Amino acid sequence: MANNMTQHYDLIAIGAGSGGLSVAERAAMYGKKCAVIESGKLGGTCVNVGCVPKKIMWNAATLYHAVQDAKDYGFDVEYKGFDWHTLVTKRENYITGINNWYETYLSDSNIDFIAGHAAFHDAKTLNVEGKLYTSDHIVITPGGYPDIPDITGAELGITSDGFFALAQQPMRVAVVGSGYIAVELAGLLNCLGSDVTMLLRKEHFLGNFDAMLRESLMESMLEDGVNILSRTEIASISKEDNDTLTLHTQNGHCIEDVDCLIWAIGRKPNIEHLALDKAGIALNPDNTIKVDKYENTNVSNIYALGDVTGKVALTPVAIASARRLADRLFNHQSQCHLQYSNIPSVVFSHPPIATVGLSEHEAREKHGSGVKIYQSRFTPMSHAFTQHKVMTAMKLIVVGAQEKVVGCHIIGPGADEMLQGFAVAIKMGATKKDFDKTVAIHPSSAEELVTMR
Ligand code: FAD
Ligand code: NDP
Repeated sequence: MANNMTQHYDLIAIGAGSGGLSVAERAAMYGKKCAVIESGKLGGTCVNVGCVPKKIMWNAATLYHAVQDAKDYGFDVEYKGFDWHTLVTKRENYITGINNWYETYLSDSNIDFIAGHAAFHDAKTLNVEGKLYTSDHIVITPGGYPDIPDITGAELGITSDGFFALAQQPMRVAVVGSGYIAVELAGLLNCLGSDVTMLLRKEHFLGNFDAMLRESLMESMLEDGVNILSRTEIASISKEDNDTLTLHTQNGHCIEDVDCLIWAIGRKPNIEHLALDKAGIALNPDNTIKVDKYENTNVSNIYALGDVTGKVALTPVAIASARRLADRLFNHQSQCHLQYSNIPSVVFSHPPIATVGLSEHEAREKHGSGVKIYQSRFTPMSHAFTQHKVMTAMKLIVVGAQEKVVGCHIIGPGADEMLQGFAVAIKMGATKKDFDKTVAIHPSSAEELVTMR
């Protein structure tokens, strides 16, 4: 029994981001007394400094090309520039609306919102700003934070968090890194008129993606004017008298006149101030929290999910694993857990990438000569006569005599909205024959996926 001073719950989530909100919401639906503890803004990374503001910036960047293309369709439009302040103000107002909506939603759902920083007191008790809370179940969902390298002058750069705080558009930008965030921010800044240089420490970006995707994207970005420096690592950064930055590379070159350096080199789990040792929670070597397929930590009744586990850092993954955990704990579904295969995802690049399943490289490693590839590359009809050309490329990876589809990769306009339905089919075990039996939607780019030879 908790003492009088201590509030007791059935479930507490540490962090009110995608995972924490979802597990509390589902548990409350089953009549459980729940709380979420949040040290920042409701909604977490996705809402405040991730998916949502990023997608708004991507939408704006996409409009730049639409304005250009409109001329080729006979519209009398003139591009007179872009006002960063207008967009950022509207974006932040929209996000504040979501934050407020969550606050009302939590109270309507009888979930307590505890504002402040949580740390373990013991395996059943959390300390939030000096006040203790006990819970039968504790779910650790604190997400992550952007990494910066340990080199001289690294603090002169910003991360994606800093990017979303920019009050003015940076005009000469260097983006270091080669994952989702690097290509997304580089692409949208380039469309919005900044002069962008990407610095990759290897030859390519998006190293874990199918080669067709990364090669096609690199081609498009180069054509659109992004400067891409492969095999370039920064040794140090210095600030000049005119406030610009000079990047000194490891091979002795200088990149000068940079007014904004963005680190996009990955994220680290947010565990530093949680006092996990007081509950005896085990970590993986990279400091993510060790969990099994049910999201159980090594301590009974303590779970972790979302980015802090280092599994798949996507919002719908955090949400899905959170809902399944609540279903397992409170709705008699003892075997319920998220299957971490065939998870679709989109890179909001220009053009966007949509991908699910194995890359060709992974498929050949796993299935050897049983792999067959169907692919197609074409100019989508929307760009048949526009000056700004965008290609579409698609690949289906199938295995065995049944030709089961194990990978589907698309780059091109509309790819972001194209994949979700195909992901359902692939999750259900669709074969190439099932794709072929499906009547095409014409004229569309998506029809190519059901007519490949
Ligand atoms: P978070 O959403 O990070 O929530 C964790 C919360 O815990 C935070 O609000 C934090 O303040 C709070 N917290 C941390 N420690 C404590 C503590 N001790 N006490 C109290 N509160 C604490 N995913 C997609 O699917 N699509 C996208 O387009 C996409 N775009 C992205 C763009 C960017 C720039 C970034 C950075 C990420 C993007 N992601 C995207 C990834 C997505 O945002 C994350 O996978 C998702 O937010 C993870 O959810 P989570 O619940 O694990 O953590
Ligand atoms: P990622 O892990 O995707 O990519 C970071 C990459 O940067 C590494 O893979 C590495 O690639 C490179 N890198 C690492 N260290 C250095 C270094 N010191 N110098 C130069 N390059 C380096 O991280 P992100 O920060 O881009 O994103 C984090 C996660 O958030 C993503 O993995 C994704 O799960 C999620 N996210 C999802 C989005 C979406 O769904 N659209 C959008 C944004 C984020 P290499 O080894 O090839 O050099």
